[in-house]
Order: sequence, then C-alpha cells, then structure tokens
Amino acid sequence: MKSASKKILVTGGAGFLGAHLCRALLTQGHEVRCVDNLFTGSLSRVEDFFAFKTFSFLQHDITHPLEASVDQIFNLACPASPVQYQKDPVHTIKTNVLGTLNLLDLARRTSSQIFQASTSEIYGDPQVHPQKEDYYGYVNPLGRRACYDEGKRVAETLFMEYHRLYGVPIRIARIFNTYGPHMHLHDGRVISNFIVQALKNAPLTLYGDGTQTRAFCYVEDLIAGILLLMEHPAGVMPVNLGNPEEVTIQALAELILDLTGSSSPIVHHPLPEDDPHLRCPDISYAKKLLGWTPTTTLKVGLLKTIEYFEKSLSLAEVSATLS
Ligand code: NAD
Ligand code: UDP
Repeated sequence: MKSASKKILVTGGAGFLGAHLCRALLTQGHEVRCVDNLFTGSLSRVEDFFAFKTFSFLQHDITHPLEASVDQIFNLACPASPVQYQKDPVHTIKTNVLGTLNLLDLARRTSSQIFQASTSEIYGDPQVHPQKEDYYGYVNPLGRRACYDEGKRVAETLFMEYHRLYGVPIRIARIFNTYGPHMHLHDGRVISNFIVQALKNAPLTLYGDGTQTRAFCYVEDLIAGILLLMEHPAGVMPVNLGNPEEVTIQALAELILDLTGSSSPIVHHPLPEDDPHLRCPDISYAKKLLGWTPTTTLKVGLLKTIEYFEKSLSLAEVSATLS
C-alpha cells in the first residue's frame, strides 16, 4: 500500500546516498526538499529530480540553523570518504555536532521524525568481529579519522538525548561501506578508485598489504533498509545496515580486475593511519526488526557499478575533448 504523501527534508541529498534516497522518496509520491552545501555533492546528481513538481533544492550548510515545514528529516549531510572528510576536519566535526543539533532542534520544533545516517566507523578499528550494535567500539580520539568517527558518535549521543529529553522520534542506521552507480569518479573511496583505475588501465592503488577486510553493500539494498527503518514503529536503537559478504581489499582488487578485463598492475601504498583491519556487520537485528536482508551479491553490484563508471568516463572524455 502506498503511504500518504509527506513533506521530507533530505540533508546531503545531492551526495551519493542522498540522491538515491531522494529518488526513492519522490517515486513514492513524497514532497522532497533537498538541502546540501555541495561540498562533495553535485547538482548534476539531482537535476533530473526537478521533473517532479514535488522536488526542491536549497544550497545550505547545516552548521547554520534552518527553518522548514516538514514531517520527516533524513540527515545524510557529511562527507563519507576519508579523503574528503579529512580535507577540513574541523568542519566535519561542526557538521556532525552543530549540524545535528540544528536538525534535532528543527525536528523538535516541527514534531517531525528524524533519521541519522550513522556509520560502522562508530566501531573504529574493532576488537570484536563481526560488529554487533551492543559493541561500544575502539576509536582513537586523536587520529586523522577521529573528526568523522567521534563526530558521528556525538551525533548518536545527541539523537538519544533529544529522544530521552524531548521525545523526538529518532531512527539511527549504522551504515557499512556502500557503493553503486552515482558515486563520484574521484570520491577517493576504494570501489570508485579501483574501478576508475582498472577502466583506465592505470595501477590499482592498494593501501597496506591488502589483508584488511570490508563488507560492501549495494546502494539499492541499503536504501530499502533505510526506508524500512524510518517506517518502523519502534526502531529507536541504532541498527546496523550493510551486507555481511566480507572480502579482503586484495581480493576486491583482483575481482575488479577480473570483471573489467583490465591489465592494470596492483601497486602497494602505505596503509593510512587507523585504517580498520577488519569490518563486517552482524545484521541479525536488522533482519529481526525489519525483515531486511541485502540481496545483491558483490559481483552483481560491481558489474552494475562498472557499467555506470564506463558511461561516466566516456562522457567525461567527450566533454574534455569539446572544451
Ligand atoms: P557523500 O560525500 O557522497 O554525500 C554527503 C553529502 O553531504 C554531499 O552532498 C555533501 O555536499 C553534503 N554535505 C557535507 N557537509 C555538509 C554540510 N555541512 N551541510 C550540508 N551538506 C553537507 O557521502 P555518502 O556516501 O552519500 O554518505 C551520506 C551519509 O551516509 C553521510 O552522512 C555518511 O557519513 C553516511 N555513510 C555513508 C556510507 C557509505 O558507504 N556511503 C557509510 C557509512 C555512513
Ligand atoms: N583503499 C585502498 N586503495 C584505495 C582506497 C582505499 O586500498 O585507493 C583501502 C583503505 O585503506 C581501506 C579500504 O580500502 O582499507 C576501504 O577504504 P575506503 O576509503 O573506501 O573506506 P573506509 O572503509 O576505510 O572508510
């Protein structure tokens, strides 16, 4: 059954996940206000959405207060790639602390439900594997990743306090590495880097010895999980959303070379500071609460993503030739 049309604010809506979420909400018939400062987002991701009369865009930084008449807020504003969030670490903290406070205040004023795009980085370099929601994590508060990890941890704390103090209806998803079409070509995350490098027959930049692991979720699976969580009547506590198909980064590099038919060599670079050694979600809570489980295998998701990057790279080449 189609849900009644709501007024929904999506912060970070011109980013990778935000744009997928805006599209899903518009398709469901909702009125979507996309707010983004365009730090890692781009208008090209959302330009098609203006075909929906129910879509609007506001260039705004959430570290500044915001007024809007809304029923629901999805807070996705924050650069997610380590390369991007470390460019201006203080602003990353402000986004997660001041920005989150501004949105929680808006939710409180308007009696709206609010969703937080939290992260597996809450668990830091985990000493427990796979990671379950009751694990408190192992985060270096002084390292280069702390602006993001600690910022996101404070954001969760603020969400819980606004719920306890003021009864704001909250939802928190701890999102594990997600990939798919519409990732930025030069976003800096591993899947976009490896695919672009492979398609250009350039060396694949493997950090460390490649034994570190991640578990990658295809974007459509993730968006389905987020929507289920937001609509669930009782999902106040954080929920892991991710695909537990764990791979080493070495195996990921080899799979991408295989799927692209690339002759690129793999070249090792130093492992960045505090790079988590192991990461894989335990999604038993999401399965039980939401009946959600990702269905796209890494191979199928990568093939769809490679197809998207092939088209994007040829378009980028055409426009470079014309300019
Ligand atoms: P992204 O960098 O593509 O998108 C983030 C968006 O937020 C961009 O459009 C950016 O311009 C905008 N933004 C950043 N700071 C802002 C600010 N102060 N005010 C307004 N807009 C701002 O990243 P993504 O992969 O789409 O991630 C979206 C959210 O999901 C982030 O909050 C991220 O922490 C979270 N997340 C993503 C992943 C993943 O694997 N993609 C994993 C865990 C958590
Ligand atoms: N990585 C890599 N080469 C790259 C980019 C990343 O080997 O060009 C590694 C990185 O060190 C990490 C993993 O891939 O171990 C995932 O990195 P990403 O930046 O995508 O996300 P993270 O999970 O670290 O936030």
